Amino acid sequence: MNKIRFLDDAVINQIAAGEVVERPASVVKELVENAIDAGASQIELEIREGGLQYIRVEDDGNGIEADQIPLAFARHATSKLRSEADLWSLTTMGFRGEALPSIAAVSLVEMVTNPGSGAHEIRVEGGIASAVKPAAFPKGTRITVRDLFFNTPARKKFMKSQQTEGNHVYEAVVRLALANPGIGFKFLHEGRTVFQTDGLGSLNEAAYAVLGADYARRMVPVESHSEGITVTGLLSKPEFTRKNRKGQYFLVNRRPVRNPVLSAALEDGYRGFLVGQEKPVAVLNLELDPAQVDVNVHPQKLEVKFSDERAVFLAIKRAARAVLGGPTLDWRPGAETASSQTFGLRTQPFSVAETTPEIYRTAAAQSLAFPEPEAAAARAVAGYQAPVPVSADFRPAAHRPVMVLGQWRENYIVAAIEDALYIIDQHAAHERVLYNRLRQAPEQVLTQVLFLPLAVELPGDLHAAALSQKAELAALGFEIDEIGERSLAIRAVPATMIGKEVEALQEILESRTRCVDELREQAFKVMACKAAVKAGQKLEPAEMVRLMDEWLEAENRGFCPHGRPVAVSLSETEILRQIKRI
Ligand code: ADP
Ligand code: MG
Repeated sequence: MNKIRFLDDAVINQIAAGEVVERPASVVKELVENAIDAGASQIELEIREGGLQYIRVEDDGNGIEADQIPLAFARHATSKLRSEADLWSLTTMGFRGEALPSIAAVSLVEMVTNPGSGAHEIRVEGGIASAVKPAAFPKGTRITVRDLFFNTPARKKFMKSQQTEGNHVYEAVVRLALANPGIGFKFLHEGRTVFQTDGLGSLNEAAYAVLGADYARRMVPVESHSEGITVTGLLSKPEFTRKNRKGQYFLVNRRPVRNPVLSAALEDGYRGFLVGQEKPVAVLNLELDPAQVDVNVHPQKLEVKFSDERAVFLAIKRAARAVLGGPTLDWRPGAETASSQTFGLRTQPFSVAETTPEIYRTAAAQSLAFPEPEAAAARAVAGYQAPVPVSADFRPAAHRPVMVLGQWRENYIVAAIEDALYIIDQHAAHERVLYNRLRQAPEQVLTQVLFLPLAVELPGDLHAAALSQKAELAALGFEIDEIGERSLAIRAVPATMIGKEVEALQEILESRTRCVDELREQAFKVMACKAAVKAGQKLEPAEMVRLMDEWLEAENRGFCPHGRPVAVSLSETEILRQIKRI
């Protein structure tokens, strides 16, 4: 018969590691939080192979005294006294002295640390510590974690690709950097700097550094007070969107959080300014009474609940409206001055009933609906007075000859335009609008550097075509490099092509043109096609109205960029003839 025994420490640590160390991103989060707790003002972080092979976190904080070093790797040993009443600290640092021993149980860890009185180092391999030895290192701590899960193959098997794990790390570091703008973060991946924040304390500056220069030009600072909540940060201009919510970062009292109400409120604020699946980009901090925030006590999660969801919803929505509806600042990093530049004003408001029968969107998951208490209709009209035009010189007709009647089969917009009925192919119309926009202002193409370059194999001729037109492609936002006879690395793509990089590049190259202008045309066609609303996509009334407005102003609107007709029409005369009235 088996005897009852105590588990030994190594086994306990491995079990704990299973809970604490889920993936490279959780290691990074723990190490960075330790550095923050140690009072660091600069944190440098490097990962290789998505963090699975190598993670290094280096800080200039308080360090650890030589005799305390082994204790740092002992379970339930902590230098931090915590009050359980402080829910916030529970959410971010919930491990009570478990992180280092857990990490060290499943990897090869090296730590060098100097509290100011001299540096020492220790190595811990699979939970087994070496002796503490003198070393050379400036004040602060460097922890290197190699070969994560080397001794727990079952765990290792659960890891996703390097790319996915790397993206998780990236998201974690972005949140940490935004939550701690007073600390300078430098993040390297495979030896390349991904971003570096200045640590001077401004959320907007940190957001700018994290998002990159291309984004900064298209973001507008916002500061708005309502419902006892202050909302500050950056919001994207409506012509700059993404296809998903990945560009949306929310903080509550400077802590990164997730909560579906926040995105829903933001998107409600942009309602009517965006078409189809477009989502705004945002970095927003909400300052509100901590008593109004209920924190989910799971240590790894950032989930919160608000006791007054309605107030939070309205505060964010109004912040968005403030940016969209009025004059805005042309903000650039380092030049935070107002240039009273407005998004071209639309002079002719249309009636609310016609455009937004359902003013408030309900959050998909939550069926939220918080009607604006004061003058809902008036607000909606105000919102429509200054949407962003298609191009700088866009001016709507003084009177609107179009009335959108509805969407048919989630594929066509049915509209009355002057004295005829039109059935308009929604994809083709949007394609035309986007294509014209690209041709008028090609500099608006936003390049997005891929966090991890994409390796692709192309047929020999396309491979050669890509390399011979590398410079032209770069001008269009596609940065490529040769990495093999048949393969390329895609390093950057136009932002709207994210997720469709390979497809888009192939289609552009398929034109097999050697002429720069033709290549450009082809690229614009592909970009317009990929970014346009698709057949089968439900459009809201306000979206259709905006699309129709833009389409009616578009040159060559009768045909899509590929030359197919966009719409069929039926005049009243034709109808009368068919029903044999004339
Ligand atoms: P916890 O953070 O919950 O205390 P950890 O296992 O993460 O537990 O860390 C154990 C201890 O090691 C900390 O309490 C702290 O004293 C010390 N420590 C860890 N990382 C650092 C660092 N970067 N700088 C200074 N001290 C550190
Ligand atoms: Mg810790």
